[in-house]
Amino acid sequence: MAEVAEESTHVWSGKVRTTLFLSAMRHFAGELRTAGRRVHYTALDDAGNRGSLRAQLQADIERLRPQGLVMTAPGDWRVLQALREAAQAHGLLLDVREDRHFFCSVREFAAHARGRESLRLEYFYREMRQRHGVLMQGDAPEGGRWNFDAENREAFGATGPGQVPERTGFARDAITREVAALVESRFDSHPGRLTGFAWPVTRAQALEALQRFVAERLPSFGRWQDAMWPGEPWLYHSHLSAALNLKLLNPREVVAAAVEAYRAGAASLASVEGFVRQILGWREYVHGIYWTRMPGYGELNGLDAHEDLPAWYWTGETDMACLRDALAQTLAHGYAHHIQRLMVTGLFALMYGVQPQQVHAWYLAVYIDAVEWVELPNTLGMSQYADGGLMASKPYVATGKYIQRMSPYCAGCRYDPAQRSGERACPFTTLYWDFLMRHATRLASNPRMALQVKNVARLDAAQKDAIRERAAAIRRGEVGTGRSSPSQGEWIV
Ligand SMILES: Cc1cc2nc3c(=O)[nH]c(=O)nc-3n(C[C@H](O)[C@H](O)[C@H](O)COP(=O)(O)OP(=O)(O)OC[C@H]3O[C@@H](n4cnc5c(N)ncnc54)[C@H](O)[C@@H]3O)c2cc1C
Ligand code: SF4
Repeated sequence: MAEVAEESTHVWSGKVRTTLFLSAMRHFAGELRTAGRRVHYTALDDAGNRGSLRAQLQADIERLRPQGLVMTAPGDWRVLQALREAAQAHGLLLDVREDRHFFCSVREFAAHARGRESLRLEYFYREMRQRHGVLMQGDAPEGGRWNFDAENREAFGATGPGQVPERTGFARDAITREVAALVESRFDSHPGRLTGFAWPVTRAQALEALQRFVAERLPSFGRWQDAMWPGEPWLYHSHLSAALNLKLLNPREVVAAAVEAYRAGAASLASVEGFVRQILGWREYVHGIYWTRMPGYGELNGLDAHEDLPAWYWTGETDMACLRDALAQTLAHGYAHHIQRLMVTGLFALMYGVQPQQVHAWYLAVYIDAVEWVELPNTLGMSQYADGGLMASKPYVATGKYIQRMSPYCAGCRYDPAQRSGERACPFTTLYWDFLMRHATRLASNPRMALQVKNVARLDAAQKDAIRERAAAIRRGEVGTGRSSPSQGEWIV
């Protein structure tokens, strides 16, 4: 096992993410040693650390002279290539084993994808439910329906989210404290803060987090899956993505725990199906997309977007209330829930026209659960539509009114989601119309976008000019970049 600087520098990895990965590695190495295994471990600050996985493996091969190499498939195409090259340089066979922390092997996904022009989640998910007998009654889905999305899209309403259960946090032990100090000194300039670090770093902690999620949050998960509330980063989500991606939890046990709660009458079918869909559906689906489409997938830029990512994505210094809150919690915890990623940070970047590879580098850097196999398809495909519609049937574009419907942010913001041009126009709303105008020809042939594109024709020339002018001002950084806070004050957690 090796801690190498390159894994924190090939993208500008956030402090929270690096600390979590290294602490989990050190705890795991300790557990292996306790179980009597011999572990060759190179720490980040060890003298002679070679700085990259490839160089470290080559040094270890020279030192240990193995007969062959066996590894579990990594989470990143780049790492697989680097380790293959290291093995080849020494004439060694690299035996790459299937990662068993998934329901669906890459080969099975490839068989599902064969001959399909587009890959929609829904068909894949149904196949997975049937194959693994999850929430099934014979050949039929439990409750007679595959999909409870209609029940799972509520906003909180004026009274807010109620008494949200306390975050399942874990005190830092000596290992995590040591890693945090190391990260602060080695990656001082990297984004994020470690003061609120309380993520599970061992399997025992991850199991406790799972159990508490099922008991405390799962019953409300589905209903409020898409809702947002200022200063409430945790809501009714599971916060288990990092534990799953670091293999502290197996997706099978997570799905089984949720289904058991439904069978015991502790959570509704809509909630449990909504949760199972994320793990047995989305998580497996993006894993399959990544490994069947790489390496070309990472280069796609289907909408020909070339703007630079605004610098305030790394600092949270914007006066757009929704973005400011999402960025603040991202930097503080390395966490934002799905709708914040898709319909706040992702939506803004898409409509602004940021080059998708820069958006990808940001998401890979800042989130604690970011491993390329899961981050890249979500960012490039689902959020930025850069794969030209392989994953999503249309770009996820919306005005600020979507955010207004799903949260109270707009009430405390200096902008107005109903205005598309002028001083108070919400940047999301301006950029939405600008996006439709810029891509009208491309989008007109998409039946799911036809209505939205038609609305552009209703604008007269002066209205279009005003939108373009305001969009240009946003891109020049003249709008949205002030640090002045929304009238409701600090929402940062
Ligand atoms: C632009 C963008 C980038 C993303 N990057 C990542 C990433 O780097 N790593 C990552 O794990 N997820 C990523 N996601 C998916 C999703 O947003 C996170 O998994 C989720 O927000 C993690 O929080 P949670 O554990 O509380 O999830 P919950 O809302 O509680 O969902 C339960 C679990 O389902 C899985 N899941 C949910 N949605 C997805 C999805 N779209 N794809 C894959 N798994 C999913 C996760 O394992 C998650 O823990 C991204 C989504 C978008 C839109
Ligand atoms: S008005 Fe626009 S920028 Fe402000 S919170 Fe609403 S959607 Fe966000």
